[in-house]
Amino acid sequence: MSLDAHRTKKSLGQHFLHDTSVVERILQALDPQPGERIVEIGPGAGALTFPLLRRHRTLTAIEFDRDLIAPLRAAAGDLGELEVIHADVLDVDLTALAAGAPIRLVGNLPYNLSSPILFHALAHRAVVRDMHFMLQKEVVDRMGAAPGSKVYGRLSVMLQAWCRVTPLIRVPPGAFRPPPKVDSAVVRLVPKPEDAVGIADPALFAGVVRAAFGQRRKTLRNALAPVCDAQAIDAAGIDPGARAETVAVERFVALANLLADAR
Ligand code: SAM
Repeated sequence: MSLDAHRTKKSLGQHFLHDTSVVERILQALDPQPGERIVEIGPGAGALTFPLLRRHRTLTAIEFDRDLIAPLRAAAGDLGELEVIHADVLDVDLTALAAGAPIRLVGNLPYNLSSPILFHALAHRAVVRDMHFMLQKEVVDRMGAAPGSKVYGRLSVMLQAWCRVTPLIRVPPGAFRPPPKVDSAVVRLVPKPEDAVGIADPALFAGVVRAAFGQRRKTLRNALAPVCDAQAIDAAGIDPGARAETVAVERFVALANLLADAR
């Protein structure tokens, strides 16, 4: 079967991009340079894959839908070297795939899996130079939100602790077939160098952030009671009477490091 005849599958979050001006803007934002290794997650019918292959000549793509694998390989023709990996990206060891050289990730992600894919990529951040992902706009808004904003939450803190987050392009539903119910946006994530992150114990940090935002309406003194006392919160430069949504990322890092030190 050809890519044109493919019937999209809702269960796999298949909304295929057909607006070529959006594709062009993503390519401009990505700005692939000779020698770089680019890995696309979820190539679908190739809306981004083939223009990228034409420009960069080499590309690795990871696609879960078995029906798309052979047509993608066939359609690559002599545009360039397209390696199509048939897998669930969550099962792909990106560190092994990178084989010692940094990779750049790009993808119009299946929205039902965007958080797991983001955290999977982050777990392999040592080999990931950057990520350009299309997501639900609402998720991108949360990722980039500042303290005090209505949408500042656990996702904002967890991502901003590890990455520089830059929202880039807003994309309306009509740019896709079939159109999703929500607006979309492209975001750039650049993992920070490990020494700039400065988190002593990532699991402890994640636990503190989860507890802090678990009960949004509670003060930190109460929300964090299972994790630490008000004295520790205060020592990290946080008002124990404040709510999590007003506290800067660095303060959560300071608190988690203080607790790690005290162990
Ligand atoms: N990149 C194409 C485009 O922009 O038109 C398709 C984007 S579509 C929103 C998401 C793609 O991710 C689909 O091709 C879907 O089959 C694929 N996909 C869904 N779950 C996946 C998974 N777990 N691993 C890899 N690909 C997946």
